Amino acid sequence: MALIPCPECGNQVSTQAVTCPSCGSPVNGNRVPPAAGSAREPMVNAGLLGKVAAVVGAWLVVPWIVRLLAFIAGIVMLGVMFMSAR
Ligand SMILES: [Zn+2]
Repeated sequence: MALIPCPECGNQVSTQAVTCPSCGSPVNGNRVPPAAGSAREPMVNAGLLGKVAAVVGAWLVVPWIVRLLAFIAGIVMLGVMFMSAR
């Protein structure tokens, strides 16, 4: 485990550390936690995608609910016909 100087404050930081414990600056550029900084614009896109996914999901699911209800109704009608045939 080696120590490297922080690019921001010069504090000796472990190479295992993602950010400097003194100033919070990212030490290794390729290991910056994803929550730091660049997560704001994708949040907006994720919200929009969530709405689109909900609408598309509803369009995909509602016909199956209708088919399921029609299937159940058909079984009930067949049952009624079978019972009334006796
Ligand atoms: Zn630092």
